Amino acid sequence: MENCIFCRIVAGEIPSATVYEDENFKAIMDIAPAAKGHVIMVAKKHYANLFELDDTVASKALIVARKIAIAIQMELNCDGVNLLQNNGEAAGQTVFHFHIHVIPRYDEDQVTVPWRHTQYGDGEAAALAVKLAARI
Ligand code: AMP
Ligand code: ZN
Repeated sequence: MENCIFCRIVAGEIPSATVYEDENFKAIMDIAPAAKGHVIMVAKKHYANLFELDDTVASKALIVARKIAIAIQMELNCDGVNLLQNNGEAAGQTVFHFHIHVIPRYDEDQVTVPWRHTQYGDGEAAALAVKLAARI
C-alpha cells in the first residue's frame, strides 16, 4: 500500500522512534501523543482494521501490547494505561492500517476516552446478546 503512512513507516521510508519490533508488529512513539509515552503498535502487514486481521496476528497482538504497557508503566510510573483500537471513521480511526494505541494515564490527567452511557429497554440487552452469540 504505497500511500499508506504506516506501510511506509514499516518499510523505513518515513522515520519513527521505534520501541519494539518483531515479525508481525512495529511499535513506535505516536507523533501527536495523548500523553508523553503514547505508543502505537502497528501491524507490519497492511490490514485496514480489526475486521481484516488474520487470527494468527490477532492472537499475538495482546501479548505484544501487554509487553509495551508493562514497559510504559515501569518507565513512567503512570497510574494506569489505556489500550485503544479504532475501527472506522465513526470510531475515530484516522489511519486505515491496523494499530493499537498504548496510552499512559495519570490520576486526574486531562486525557479523555469518553462516552455517555445509554440505556436498554426491557429485555433488549438479552435479545441482542442472543443475536450476537449466534454470529460468533
Ligand atoms: P487512529 O486515529 O486510531 O487511526 O490513530 C492514528 C494515530 O497515528 C494518531 O494518534 C496519530 O497521531 C498517529 N500518527 C499519524 N502519523 C504518524 C507518524 N508519522 N508517526 C507516528 N504516529 C503517527
Ligand atoms: Zn498500510
